[in-house]
Amino acid sequence: MRLNKFVFTTLTLLCFSALANAFTVIIDPGHGGSDPGAIGCKSKEKDLNLKVALLLGEKIEAECPDITVIYTRKSDQTLALKDRPRIANKNNGDFFISIHTNSAQSSKPCGTETFILGMAKEGANLEVAKRENSVILLEDDKESYQGFDPNKPESYILFEFLLDQYNEQSLLMADLIQQQFAKKTDRENRSVRQDLFWVLHQTKMPSVLVEIGFISNSSDENYLISKKGQNEIASAILEAIKQYKYEYDKKNNGKYQSLKTEVSDKDNPTYRVQLFAAKEELPCNHPSMKGEKNLTFFKENGYFKYTSQPVDDYEDAKKLHSALKEKFSDCFIIAFYKGEKISVKKALSIKK
Ligand SMILES: [Zn+2]
Repeated sequence: MRLNKFVFTTLTLLCFSALANAFTVIIDPGHGGSDPGAIGCKSKEKDLNLKVALLLGEKIEAECPDITVIYTRKSDQTLALKDRPRIANKNNGDFFISIHTNSAQSSKPCGTETFILGMAKEGANLEVAKRENSVILLEDDKESYQGFDPNKPESYILFEFLLDQYNEQSLLMADLIQQQFAKKTDRENRSVRQDLFWVLHQTKMPSVLVEIGFISNSSDENYLISKKGQNEIASAILEAIKQYKYEYDKKNNGKYQSLKTEVSDKDNPTYRVQLFAAKEELPCNHPSMKGEKNLTFFKENGYFKYTSQPVDDYEDAKKLHSALKEKFSDCFIIAFYKGEKISVKKALSIKK
């Protein structure tokens, strides 16, 4: 858990811009345990992925105190494909990076490429996506994939109709990663590509899948095994994450400067009913609001938390809560006092 960087001000929200936004990166080392991934002459994909992933996490933790790192696996363990996005979503990740090593029939292809979710260019034939998705076939619990068969083209039709709301941010990160690879490593840049990866499709956040090199190419494999290679790759991704975070902060802070809040600076606590949280500021007729007008929001842990208007009396808050519960089954009462969010228990004790 990261520390709650919560500040609420009644006069202006300008102070938000001074705060670094909390940011969580999910690092997903592909394969693991009984699933080795692609196999080279000297190494296995699962081990290379893990080494680079751990190194990347260490670097982030050392250099970016405002970024929280969550791994989907930290050791050579078997992890179902479905558990990777599940971990990412459960931890409210701001970004998901899946790390993989490429492989080809021919020993010629080499270099790095970063994938985002999208339709592959004609002729690409889902080659990489099929291979990376095929771990599902090794798993016992195929039912959780709702009939998705990585080898059947018709399974991918569903993907096509889904608009990926994170496309723009995913593309930004993918671009930054490939730029950094070009800058920091002397390797072939196979650029940013799109394909239908199950794991990217399931994450509710911007996400990329990085292929750090070809295990089937001997010079790439030697580079990937080497400390120097692993270090360069992790440093390049770290730099891309820093740049992405910079853009993220700029965008989010910009938004706050125009926000107004209705919370008054009263001596008594006020109560609100929190309805839901969103990653972004939503338009006022957004479906998540279920037709409710006059909602307000505050920002906490990188989320826009949408609430009812404040009321002074706890009994009124309870009435409001039971009315709103019909539409928002998970809603709950929160309290504010002198510009800060406090527990309801504390609010009640203040009022006495
Ligand atoms: Zn892989």
